[in-house]
Amino acid sequence: MSSKILGVSNLQTCFADKHTIPKLTTSPVGLSTRTIGVMVMTHGDDRGLVVPPRIARHQVVIVPVGITAKTTEEDRTSLYKQIEALEEILKATDIRVIADQREGYSPGWKFNDWEMKGVPLRLEFGPRDAAAHKVTTSRRDIQGDEGKGTIAITELATGVKDLLDTIQKDLYDRANESFKSHTKKITNWDDFVPALNSKNVCLIPHCLTEKCEDEIKELSARKEDDGVPADERAPSMGAKSLCIPFDQPEGLIKGETKCTNPNCTNKAEEWCLFGRSY
Ligand SMILES: [Zn+2]
Repeated sequence: MSSKILGVSNLQTCFADKHTIPKLTTSPVGLSTRTIGVMVMTHGDDRGLVVPPRIARHQVVIVPVGITAKTTEEDRTSLYKQIEALEEILKATDIRVIADQREGYSPGWKFNDWEMKGVPLRLEFGPRDAAAHKVTTSRRDIQGDEGKGTIAITELATGVKDLLDTIQKDLYDRANESFKSHTKKITNWDDFVPALNSKNVCLIPHCLTEKCEDEIKELSARKEDDGVPADERAPSMGAKSLCIPFDQPEGLIKGETKCTNPNCTNKAEEWCLFGRSY
């Protein structure tokens, strides 16, 4: 958990960078810490943050590898020069790239450092890669060999761009899938609170009146005496309406379907999404 907390501060630093994301810091819209929190929870893993490529301050990090005590000064300088050239190629196609040429740190230490910060794509480049005219790629969002690949240097810019697009899409699809699986369509009030208790958000037919919304909030709040152990009682707030989804599910007949609140005599107007705030 500590790495995640550390990650959040890194991210805030990232959003504060006027040079890479001017709109976020100068427009009045901005991003709330809540939005950032949701992103950390949605895409983060036990190694820290995973920042989607579109909003990442650094989309790509290049880490030199394969330098040992036996590597000559000449070979080392040559490798670093080639890495600078790779960096230039990517910058020329508007990819936000950084080459980590810090001395005194092992590649493994650098991998870990950039992973924690959530940089979506790492390129490794060493003497073997140079000889084979390729870079080794490692995706932040997929652990182990499955997330590794290579890109020929002749196709570097397009290869990296395509891979970043794929990462962006995969992160979105995974988050969307996870959101969908935690969204329950409910028409019976008795199923509503148990579904909320299982950390779902609920789509219910609702009359869209404010009075009824307040009642639902009241009715779905956990009471002191409902037998729930004290440590599980924390999310005891009542459910609030989150939105009226643009894509309305089927099954609601206007003027016929009842509002889900058992104390409400209105007919339902729309499917409305309710959830507890944490
Ligand atoms: Zn109602």
